[in-house]
Amino acid sequence: MLELEEARARLLAGITPLGTECVTLNTAAFRIAASAVSSSVDLPPFDNSAMDGYAVRAADVISAKADAAVALTLVGKVAAGEGSIGEVQPGQCVRVFTGSMLPPGADAVVMQEDTQIDDEPSARVHVLDGVKPWENVRFRGEDVKRGAVLVRSGERLSPGRTGLLAAAGVSRAKVYRRPEIGLLATGSELVEPGGSLAPGKIYESNRAALEPLLVRSGATVRVYPLVPDTLAGTKDALARAFAECDGVVTSGGVSVGELDFVKAAFEELGGRLDFWKVAIKPGKPFVFGRRGGKLLFGLPGNPVSAIVTFLLLVRPALWRWQGATDVEPRTVPCVLGEPLVNRGGRRHFMRVRIDGHGVAVSAGQQASHRLGSLAEANALVDVPPDTALPAQASVTAILLDE
Ligand code: AMP
Ligand code: MG
Repeated sequence: MLELEEARARLLAGITPLGTECVTLNTAAFRIAASAVSSSVDLPPFDNSAMDGYAVRAADVISAKADAAVALTLVGKVAAGEGSIGEVQPGQCVRVFTGSMLPPGADAVVMQEDTQIDDEPSARVHVLDGVKPWENVRFRGEDVKRGAVLVRSGERLSPGRTGLLAAAGVSRAKVYRRPEIGLLATGSELVEPGGSLAPGKIYESNRAALEPLLVRSGATVRVYPLVPDTLAGTKDALARAFAECDGVVTSGGVSVGELDFVKAAFEELGGRLDFWKVAIKPGKPFVFGRRGGKLLFGLPGNPVSAIVTFLLLVRPALWRWQGATDVEPRTVPCVLGEPLVNRGGRRHFMRVRIDGHGVAVSAGQQASHRLGSLAEANALVDVPPDTALPAQASVTAILLDE
């Protein structure tokens, strides 16, 4: 049995990105950049006003106070979007708005709230509070300098970053292609939710959890019909999914029972198993294999095991397949509100609920078929074998809804 980190490293080592495509910026968020982009402009592109107010020469108004107002002559107006005007001379001011170009000669902006204006047409502005040089001015290039790197290859494009790219005039982004993943659930006991349950049957639940997790991991998903526990049925289903997709995620049928057909079916289709057991709970049986450039991720059938192995192993693999550099699960520090006890010999990723103050408590019963506690949980805490983590222990939790 492999340690989780070893299994993950082995998995990631064998995965290379699928290729790249160019997409419009508004569809690029949450995808992985496939090339570095540098800024061709300064941001802001010109010195501009941070306020609605009046552009002034600071020296004129440095001593202005409510009871010692300084009167300036209003000589013009620059709206946001307009080009600049003539130079502001001593004793003069120019009406400006947030984002207006700073007129030449001006070196500060008095905010509108600190002024009084005479009735037209006198064009006198009384400044009631002083400003220092460059107060309320946003400088050219203070946010981003021309030539600065806006995004690196392998970085996940957050909406903040796609906004930054747009601000620099970029309209398209080169990103890694999304893998198309076929999703299969095996098990002759399974019934589609919405149907009726004959004796011995259960509703199929893994696809309802795994499809959204796949989508969140950047994949496009094809969901296939339920697969009965027969070699022929499993082979047919796998053959179809491999023909239509870049990779396949299955649940169930990877254990040691004589009705577990995923491995045999995959091998009969020419797949090569690079399969291992991983020393974690829940989730020991986990299968990884290749068929040409395509990948098989065979998850255990127990619902919690399927989801936990997906999060710890498949999700990092999917991100790496999309060219991501950082594929580690997202974690948060938290403090235990009660002890978490692992009496077993494998690391136990225990379901916890972290409250708004960063205090984590068990989300309920931890057996690997108990979905109720998974539904309550928002994170997993890695509890080492034969260990009791005491209340108040500081731990790092893996977020479920990342
Ligand atoms: P298996 O890995 O196929 O031996 O399944 C282990 C357990 O998980 C059995 O109790 C199955 O009935 C259950 N199981 C397998 N697949 C699913 C599924 N898609 N939805 C709900 N339960 C499942
Ligand atoms: Mg089964």
